[in-house]
Amino acid sequence: MAASATLTKEIEKLRDEIRKHEHLYYVLDAPQISDAAFDKLMRKLKAIEEEHPEFVTPDSPTQRVGGKPRGVFQTYRHARPMMSLDNALSFEELGEFDRRARELTGRERIEYVAEHKFDGLSLALIYESGALVRGVTRGDGQTGEDVTVNVKAIRSIPLRLDLAEMKKLGLPGDIEVRGEAMMTRKAFEELNRQQDATGGKHFANARNAAAGAVRVLDPTVTASRKLDFFAYYLLSGARVPLKKHSQSLEALKSLRFRASDDFEICEGIEEVEKYCTKWEGKRDKMPYEIDGVVVKVNDVGLQNELGYTSKAPRWAIAFKWAARQATTLVKEIGFNVGRTGTLTPVAFFEPVPIGGVTVSKSTLHNMDEVERLNIHAGDTVLVERAGDVIPHVLKVVKHGKEEKPVIVPEKCPECGTRVHRVEGEVAYRCVNAMCPARRRESLIHFAGRHAMNIDGLGDKLVDQLVEKGIVKDFADLYALKLDDLENLERMAEKSAQNLLDEIAASKKNELSRLIYGLGIGFVGERTAQLLAEHFGSLEKIADAGTEELMEVNEIGPKVAASVSDFFSEKANRKLIDRLREKGVRMKEERRALTDHRFAGKSFVFTGTLEHHSREEAGQLVVSHGGKLISSVSKKTDYVVAGSDPGSKLTKAQSLGVTILDEAAFEKLLAKK
Ligand code: AMP
Ligand code: ZN
Repeated sequence: MAASATLTKEIEKLRDEIRKHEHLYYVLDAPQISDAAFDKLMRKLKAIEEEHPEFVTPDSPTQRVGGKPRGVFQTYRHARPMMSLDNALSFEELGEFDRRARELTGRERIEYVAEHKFDGLSLALIYESGALVRGVTRGDGQTGEDVTVNVKAIRSIPLRLDLAEMKKLGLPGDIEVRGEAMMTRKAFEELNRQQDATGGKHFANARNAAAGAVRVLDPTVTASRKLDFFAYYLLSGARVPLKKHSQSLEALKSLRFRASDDFEICEGIEEVEKYCTKWEGKRDKMPYEIDGVVVKVNDVGLQNELGYTSKAPRWAIAFKWAARQATTLVKEIGFNVGRTGTLTPVAFFEPVPIGGVTVSKSTLHNMDEVERLNIHAGDTVLVERAGDVIPHVLKVVKHGKEEKPVIVPEKCPECGTRVHRVEGEVAYRCVNAMCPARRRESLIHFAGRHAMNIDGLGDKLVDQLVEKGIVKDFADLYALKLDDLENLERMAEKSAQNLLDEIAASKKNELSRLIYGLGIGFVGERTAQLLAEHFGSLEKIADAGTEELMEVNEIGPKVAASVSDFFSEKANRKLIDRLREKGVRMKEERRALTDHRFAGKSFVFTGTLEHHSREEAGQLVVSHGGKLISSVSKKTDYVVAGSDPGSKLTKAQSLGVTILDEAAFEKLLAKK
């Protein structure tokens, strides 16, 4: 009993620590510890919870992505309807709202709170005794969908609130928090970049992407989209427990929600107007989309006096900024090669000012969009810069005299390589791994941890190598010399040498890493492994036709076509020849088994052996059917210790794993 009480205490302390850092990182954007230190805390908690599953609670930080993908969402009836807001599109309409509110309440002047209108998806979060028990969408306003599993995956939403703090604020433990789930521009752009790279759906705006992420059936998708949540209402049952709306916002902040710091208390509507003007000028600089200002009567008593229409509160209004649109002429439709090799159609306009910015072109995303818009050079189009800083074409308002069809070029405009399209996909791609348009991305991917794993070759360094023309393709990496590196920024002699060692070591990687690193469309890590296992050499893969590729389990026509397209390009073949010349391994080492004496047994080596190199010794294990692993655990069968063994030996001793010296290892091998 006493032991379990201490353990509970320890677990709660650890969780509190993690919650504190989640708040610092995800809400305040002011982390106090490194990501690695944070991961360590999480791992520690996970380990304890794994050992003592009886202490796992749904509000533990480990439970953010716990739920399984499910069939459908349950519906949930809101305690108080989630209404929409009336809109004001001009200062006159805003003045009208104020006049009505003053008349109805008999006040001369009303105190308002002006705050950002977040452009996302509204959510209600229900807390019982301080623990998050439910997250619900607005739905039709009366009933929404229970999206709790997904809501938990949003890191700025606390899973547990501090009860003492709630008490201090005069709040009960059961509250409801409402707000908006959103994506920052950066997260949104990153998402679209990934979607384009993998041939996924391109999202028109951050709101759609955020809404989709909340309503998907798989919470890991929600987690991967990096949503934020901004809180703006605090309820308890169907009531507002605090006297002023501004107090609610402050209380939400002290309960560790993300609530806007930019709200202002305004004495009268003139101050609200000033707020609206001020933020219209700043909206483009915000990290996320805001499409207007929400104005709320601050005093909750007055709010109650004003009450509701059938649709919306009479005590609040959304002031929406004018949509920034203009019509202009399409001069030409061209094609851009993106960083992943995808060809995207681009409309070039007669330059036109929209909301203070001159717009002269806009991406059309893909050929489906071109068809949907039915757009041609010579057409007059309506262009919008709504919230999005990147302008987009809304529609054709007038077709030109001659409707010249938009034709995808047969050759990449950047490198002249033939353009490929995989059956059934919208994207056209330049598959030349070394096309100048995709050089940077390709190199970063090639060096990545799951590809060739060249530690130290990050974005910044690749940028410099590419800009200075030192590296044009993967093979150039293997020709790098100390001189090439030393003059680069932030590159000391030691790190330059380390990098060269890393690059040299990568030549010995397993084949699957190379295949993945080449950046062939639709070939992820797993597919790369399957290909390596099945064919055993890059040459065989390159020479395989689509039929033969499809003989590999799990490989369908799309992947097969993409692989064969890749190797059909001369440029790629040449690249591979050059990599081979540099000594990059292109075969899977498959030695025939000598016998099965080590079948099912795992070995760890530590220290230096006298008669064998580490590599040889490892091969001996494998060729006798054993498994070579890198770290010691309870499940390890043997630890072979040479001279100067490391911590693995001590670990083996403490776990009681069988320890062999070199002689004993040789004896095992020699046994008949
Ligand atoms: P609309 O859907 O355009 O009529 O706008 C109403 C919606 O704006 C509300 O239902 C909320 O989801 C959203 N909204 C965004 N920011 C706020 C805010 N600060 N206060 C209240 N509602 C907001
Ligand atoms: Zn190209």
